[in-house]
Amino acid sequence: MDIQTVTDREFGENSYIVSGDGALYVIDPGIDYDAVNDAVKRTGLPVKYVFLTHGHYDHTFSVRNFKGTQVYAHSAEKPLLEDASKNLSAFTGKPFSIEGINYYDGQNHTIDDIEITHTPGHTAGCVVIRIKDSLFSGDTLFYDTVGRTDLPGGDPEALKRSLLLFDKFDKNLKVYPGHGAPFILGDAYKINFYLRRNRT
Ligand SMILES: [Zn+2]
Repeated sequence: MDIQTVTDREFGENSYIVSGDGALYVIDPGIDYDAVNDAVKRTGLPVKYVFLTHGHYDHTFSVRNFKGTQVYAHSAEKPLLEDASKNLSAFTGKPFSIEGINYYDGQNHTIDDIEITHTPGHTAGCVVIRIKDSLFSGDTLFYDTVGRTDLPGGDPEALKRSLLLFDKFDKNLKVYPGHGAPFILGDAYKINFYLRRNRT
């Protein structure tokens, strides 16, 4: 599996272009569509699905450029994706809402052999996405901290419960967060206050 990362300069948001076994997925197409598109082209593959870890504008800005591609998000994120104030794009001078998403429900969802886990907290419809031995954690989990819960849809108590769900994952998984560098899940358990607090 090959993973390309496009990090936008302004917000530090990571878009991931994931290819393997003849399939190509884009996770969180953010602000810099040209760079995402260049990464897509390098694979020589058509984009099979776009996955959204959540609906904040810095993770979804370029969804509009993937017309005709199936875009997946959790149904709990619908109110945020469709509201420019809640997805925060209203505060950037370029407000947008996103329609035409394929919404799935529930705690766990599988598409192809991709395992999606609902992890509300940063927003109501946050998910983490496991593809083989990689886990795309969006703004739910970073190496040494977690996503903020003071924005629309944020809920600190829900985030605490969601963090417990990481216990089920193989600690050797490589985690690709929505901001910052990738890390091994087990390493975060050693130093991340929020993961450690849940275990005591
Ligand atoms: Zn966010």
